[in-house]
Amino acid sequence: MSVLYIRQPDGSHEKVPVTPENTRSYIESIPLYAEDDDPLFWPADRVREMQDEMLNRELDWVFEGHDYYKRTFKDGGIERGDIKGLDDLEKLPLTYKKDYMADADSFKLKPAEPTLYDWIFEVTYTTGSTTGMPTPFWNTIHDAHGIWQMLFRGIKLGGFPPYARGINLFPLGPVPHIGFFRARDIGMLGIGSLNMYGCTGMPHPEFPVHRSMDYAMDLIEGGKAEVWLGIASFMRRLIMKAELEGRDFSETKHIQALGEACPQAMRDDMKKRLQNMGAEDPFISNSYGFTEMQGALPECTDFSGCHNPAPNLYFFEVVDEETGKRVPDGERGLFCITHLNRRGTVLLRYVIGDLGALTHETCPHCGRTSERAVVAVGSTYATRTAELVKLKGTLINPEILRDGLAKTPGVQEYQIIFDKKDKDDPYSLDDLIVKIAPEDGFDRAKIEEEVQSKMVSAVEMRAKVEFVAMEEIYDPTVALKAYRVIDMRPKLD
Ligand SMILES: [Zn+2]
Repeated sequence: MSVLYIRQPDGSHEKVPVTPENTRSYIESIPLYAEDDDPLFWPADRVREMQDEMLNRELDWVFEGHDYYKRTFKDGGIERGDIKGLDDLEKLPLTYKKDYMADADSFKLKPAEPTLYDWIFEVTYTTGSTTGMPTPFWNTIHDAHGIWQMLFRGIKLGGFPPYARGINLFPLGPVPHIGFFRARDIGMLGIGSLNMYGCTGMPHPEFPVHRSMDYAMDLIEGGKAEVWLGIASFMRRLIMKAELEGRDFSETKHIQALGEACPQAMRDDMKKRLQNMGAEDPFISNSYGFTEMQGALPECTDFSGCHNPAPNLYFFEVVDEETGKRVPDGERGLFCITHLNRRGTVLLRYVIGDLGALTHETCPHCGRTSERAVVAVGSTYATRTAELVKLKGTLINPEILRDGLAKTPGVQEYQIIFDKKDKDDPYSLDDLIVKIAPEDGFDRAKIEEEVQSKMVSAVEMRAKVEFVAMEEIYDPTVALKAYRVIDMRPKLD
């Protein structure tokens, strides 16, 4: 259970459950939160009016200096006057990752009269796509300020304990992705937060600044870390290693597991292990984030849905894959973002590449009115469209297999492999292999039986189950994330 930490005059904290009333008290207890005219609590019509205004200004900028959309709109016969607000947005075509990747520079705004705030502040890169090539995403000084405001409101929404000791467990990777750097900014903007940095990641031998997982564990233990940010599977590996070593992680209160889905069973597992290391009741939260929003949509409590932390910056919609039209709340479709207030890279109706669903209902937990991404599959918010695979001729969603495996008792880590029965014959039957690193003390035959029955009900085929050592599946010193689904089959056109 997640709780809110309401600071008392003597510096101690009162822990209260997340309810709309307690959320108000929590905000009132922190002057910077109370002073913030936070659009996440505004009534829907006031938000819509503000968003229409923002969109109109952004479109003026786009028609003035956005090469890609100027060209696309001209080709499509779309004029500035055709789009007066969000209701007209559906007249614009969807923008796909391949369009943006083909010419990222043409998505960068080139204003006629740039000011200081239009100078490039930084560039971050999208994570590996299907082609494996990262794409640059430019933030101007103006954009950086907007991002900081979004992160501030995200911290407020996530109920981070004020005056907490935090640790950034994202890898300091060779390519600047948002993980490490936005977690750094969260450290900067948190109320009175003191921050530590694990600095793990791929070494650059000439400048040996990178550090080991053991160093990160020492920081958590010695520095009494309360709030952690990092990639879900990396933090789980770290927790498992620390548990074996009998570390004292008793101060851990709040974990932001990011970068990938963190289903219920994985959260339960992390929580149980942390409790074995002395933590009282840690909140394992899974925010849904991506480069094109430079942050994440946070949860206010377990599975509350992921709230839009910045309705003044972003408009989200879920659209039908075929028609590009918006689908009703709760229905699954392509998750899209439209930038409402950006001066660097600007995207309109951009298809993130995930299938998800939205709700516009006021959050029953915290009382916020901004839209939320809701659980789309099993206990995860979004599933990569690219991850839908054909297995024996049927389109399946590996997320369902993943969900089933993660929930099987005794499965410590796993990997799902799609292969061919005859490796020399690309047309031979598909094979499903499930590698499992079992937990000690569990009956392997029982694990296998349970896994088989789950595979059969999910994809109507039996799997080859192999029990392996953990290192064979996931070595955190090499890989950023655990690769849980691998398709070994040759690509056929
Ligand atoms: Zn909420």
